[in-house]
Amino acid sequence: MKLRITVLPGDGVGPEVTAEAVRVLQTVAEFAGHDFQFQEKRFGGAAYRASGSPLPPDTLDACLQSNAVLLGAVGGPDFDELPRHLRPESGLLQLRMALGGYANLRPAVSYKSIADCSPLQPAATEGADILVVRELLGGLYFSEDRGFSEEGTSAFNTMRYSVEEIERIAHVGFREARRRRRKLTSVDKANVLEVSQLWRKVVSRVAREYPEVKLEHMYVDSCAMHLVNDPRRFDVILTENLFGDILSDESAVITGSLGMLASGTIGGTVNLFEPVHGSAPDIAGRGIANPLGAIASAAMLLRYSAGLEQESRDVEFAIHSVLEAGYRTADLARGRSRIDLVSTVQMGMQVEKVVSDILDSRHAYHAV
Ligand code: NAD
Repeated sequence: MKLRITVLPGDGVGPEVTAEAVRVLQTVAEFAGHDFQFQEKRFGGAAYRASGSPLPPDTLDACLQSNAVLLGAVGGPDFDELPRHLRPESGLLQLRMALGGYANLRPAVSYKSIADCSPLQPAATEGADILVVRELLGGLYFSEDRGFSEEGTSAFNTMRYSVEEIERIAHVGFREARRRRRKLTSVDKANVLEVSQLWRKVVSRVAREYPEVKLEHMYVDSCAMHLVNDPRRFDVILTENLFGDILSDESAVITGSLGMLASGTIGGTVNLFEPVHGSAPDIAGRGIANPLGAIASAAMLLRYSAGLEQESRDVEFAIHSVLEAGYRTADLARGRSRIDLVSTVQMGMQVEKVVSDILDSRHAYHAV
């Protein structure tokens, strides 16, 4: 398999965690016999410093010509005073728009070995494994029908979804559920909103094409409560843009650290993979950032942009294994008494070692 990957390390801890994700991808390529070509480009604050733009044309061109984009994080206090259009975060929005992905996938997994890092009771979170599928290009955030009244005494935004927009994200949700534990919770506010009534109707219709998936509908307020009360009841959560923004952040609580969270945005010209966290200026340059969210994003890249499901699972298993073995970056160093405190690079190397062992032994098995 040949794959061109554009790497955008970005700012703050972005370059530190991205280097570890690339390390793991390189190991997969080497041991599983794939040809991954990496092209690194400046993005965000780093690009602004070098060229005056957070998303220079050659960075965007490289992204559009690649098979996948792997991003670190952007932003930081140095750029907070810039005009809005020059800020790193606006480069990120421009990039997302240009790549056109409409489905944002955010897994939230509670690993048993770090369950005590979550503020929730381990008894409630242990074993929870959720995928939030959020519609990313529609709803309140993108509607052009918005603004302030002339006097400035009122303001409005409009939530609007077409049948086509709901159908395409519903298909993503059902396909994901079919690959996982075959349960899909569609979240809306159909007791109040017409948009949600349409959402519910269309999702129910799409469900007929996936008879093996169990569909339930749930109001967003109820979902918010169940997520912290009983997260194990969920498999795939399918929802619109605003509800998904809120629920995916809430579901993150079960994992124990922001540094653990991965994401992928698919459905557009080129898929984009990035850890959920920001540039973490408070710990940047100290070599202590948790790279597992970036590495888990690389695992998603293998699944969604390369079709390498087995290798993707191998990387996810490796993450699980190093945590089981007691390796912890500083953000996870609480709760359990016996831990090995490791740096960003050491954590990346531990994952790399497990991945290479798995791929090596599989190769040896097939060679016999
Ligand atoms: P943040 O995610 O950078 O940090 C929040 C807290 O989590 C900090 O205490 C940080 O040390 C910790 N943290 C984050 N990532 C970590 C990791 N990998 N390992 C260990 N700890 C980690 O959020 P913030 O402080 O609100 O934002 C900082 C900058 O990042 C801002 O400029 C913001 O605009 C930007 N930002 C960028 C993105 C992105 O690039 N997608 C997302 C969110 C924030």
